[in-house]
Amino acid sequence: MEAANVVVVGSLNMDLVVPVARHPKPGETVIGGDLRRFSGGKGANQAVAAARLGARVRMVGRVGADTYGVELKEGLDAEGIETADVAETDAPTGVALISVSEDGQNAIIVSPGANARLQPEDLSPAQFASSKAVVLQLETPLETVHRAAELGQEAGARVLLNAAPAQALPEGLMGALDLLVVNEFEAAQVAGAREPEGPEEALALARQLARRVPVAVVTLGARGLVWAGVEGEGFLPAFPVEAVDTTAAGDAFVGGLAAALAAGEPLQPALRFASAAGALAATRPGAQPSLPRAAEVEALL
Ligand code: ADP
Repeated sequence: MEAANVVVVGSLNMDLVVPVARHPKPGETVIGGDLRRFSGGKGANQAVAAARLGARVRMVGRVGADTYGVELKEGLDAEGIETADVAETDAPTGVALISVSEDGQNAIIVSPGANARLQPEDLSPAQFASSKAVVLQLETPLETVHRAAELGQEAGARVLLNAAPAQALPEGLMGALDLLVVNEFEAAQVAGAREPEGPEEALALARQLARRVPVAVVTLGARGLVWAGVEGEGFLPAFPVEAVDTTAAGDAFVGGLAAALAAGEPLQPALRFASAAGALAATRPGAQPSLPRAAEVEALL
């Protein structure tokens, strides 16, 4: 197998979904419909997105010694992703328990399990040796994310953090990034500001974030994205599509951006490629099944 040019350090989760008429109150039992099971975790989703969009991907993460772990790893293997560094640990595989009520509201409990056991010591320079892009999220411990960013920098890769789920970020970590990718809500959380209303305010927030990282990208869902930083700034409208389910649009976007940057694309064409990937993911239901392939993105472009 050719050496990986995109390294994703992040989470793998099994999503367990049960439809309910309404969510239970504390102490109450409700009977739901049939259980459905979906492979997820932002790390794994972004790894699959990058692989389908032409990158050679290595995933670094942790699962439990259980059947969900085996299933998640096999799913990544089937996408051609290198999983030698997705090791078993003594905690159970990460799980999201999701109930979906008839009025379309989700109630979610995330049990990070094995994802929380991925430590800085589990990372080594060899894992990043050939990388051109390193992709990080916040579903694994912050110290590990920080170490991965440093190792990516040392390897000469572009280090991209999708700051989700959002939290305030230490300056040390911000200083080890090349690109920060956030939606409007996450941008506000990271900056300690209120959520931007409209592209102009989002651009102002991107500029503010770009004082701490070389490039800040704020995605705006169906309205597109804004970016600011050392490679200029601007607004890129979204591709007009018939959106069905925007789950994983952000993951498709991040995976697409990493794949394009790893292939040597400059920032602006890479953002266009990523936004086409995000738009296509929005046209299909589900998370990993909705992630598009390179040929589909080329066709939309
Ligand atoms: P997240 O899922 O992280 O909140 P967004 O919803 O902002 O991320 O989506 C990321 C990118 O995917 C957007 O910047 C846009 O390019 C694309 N996208 C998302 N939703 C749509 C949509 N309904 N129509 C077209 N493009 C979309």
